[in-house]
Amino acid sequence: MHVRPLEGKTAFVTGGSRGIGAAIVRGLALQGATVTFTYVAAGGAADALVDDIRLAGGHAEAVRADSADAEGLAQAIDVAAAAHGRLDILVNNAGVITHGPVDDLPVEEFDRVFAINVRAVYAGTRAAAKHMGEGGSVITVGSIVADRSGFPGTAIYSASKGAIKSMTRGFARDLGPRGITVNNVQPGPIATDMNPAYVEELVLPLIPLGRMGRAEEVAALVAHLAGPEARFTTGASFTVDGGFMS
Ligand code: NDP
Repeated sequence: MHVRPLEGKTAFVTGGSRGIGAAIVRGLALQGATVTFTYVAAGGAADALVDDIRLAGGHAEAVRADSADAEGLAQAIDVAAAAHGRLDILVNNAGVITHGPVDDLPVEEFDRVFAINVRAVYAGTRAAAKHMGEGGSVITVGSIVADRSGFPGTAIYSASKGAIKSMTRGFARDLGPRGITVNNVQPGPIATDMNPAYVEELVLPLIPLGRMGRAEEVAALVAHLAGPEARFTTGASFTVDGGFMS
C-alpha cells in the first residue's frame, strides 16, 4: 500500500476551481502529484485552493483556460507539461449542464455544451497524449445520464455525456498500446453548485443511500484510476451514484 502513490507524477485537471474538479485537484495533490488546473470565472476560489494545497505541503497551480477554446486548452497543457518536464495524468472534468425540452433549446445550445463537454475532451486528450508515456492515465468525468436520462429536458447534456463514454473506449484502443489507460467516471447526483435545491428535492427519493454524493467520493475513484493499482483498468466507465441507477 502506497501512502503517497502519486509522488513524482504531474497532473492536469480541467475545471478545478469548484465542485468535483476542486476535490479531484485536492485528492491528486494530497497523494503527491503536482497539479495544474484550469478555471474560467472562479479565479478567487482557484487561488484559495492553490494556497490550501501549498499550506498542506502539496504542489498546485491554477491557469485560466476556457475549455470552449480547444486551441487555448491544448496550449495550456503544452505549457504545463513543458514547465514540469512531463505529464502523467489528465482529468477532463470541466463541464456545463443545460436543461430544456427540444422544442425550446436552440441548436446553438447544442454547440455550446458540446464544445465544453465533448470537443474539449478530444482536444485535451489529444494534447496530453503527446506528452504521456507508459503509465499515463486519462480520466474523464462523465455522468450517469449517459446511460439513462431519467427526466425530460436532458437531451443535450445526456448526449454529451454519452459521447464521452464512447470516446473513452476509442481512446483506450488508441492509447493502450502505449501503456496509457483511459477511463470514464460517471457520478450520480453530487452536492455541488451544478445542482440547485430543487434538483436535490427531485432526486433524493430516488437514491437508495438517501443522500447526495460528496465531491470527495468522486475524487477518490479518480485518484485510484490515476494510481499504480489501476494499471489493467482501461476503456471502462464507473458509476458513483449512491445506487441511483440500481
Ligand atoms: P460545478 O458547476 O460545481 O463546477 C464546474 C467547474 O468547471 C468549475 O470549476 C468551473 O470553473 C469549470 N468550468 C465550467 N465551464 C468551464 C469552461 N468552459 N472551461 C474551463 N472550466 C470550466 O460542476 P460540478 O463540479 O458539479 O461538475 C464537474 C463535472 O462533473 C462536470 O463535467 C459535470 O458534468 C459532471 N457531473 C456532475 C454531477 C453533479 O451532480 N454535480 C453529476 C454527474 C456529472 P469556473 O467556475 O472557474 O468557470
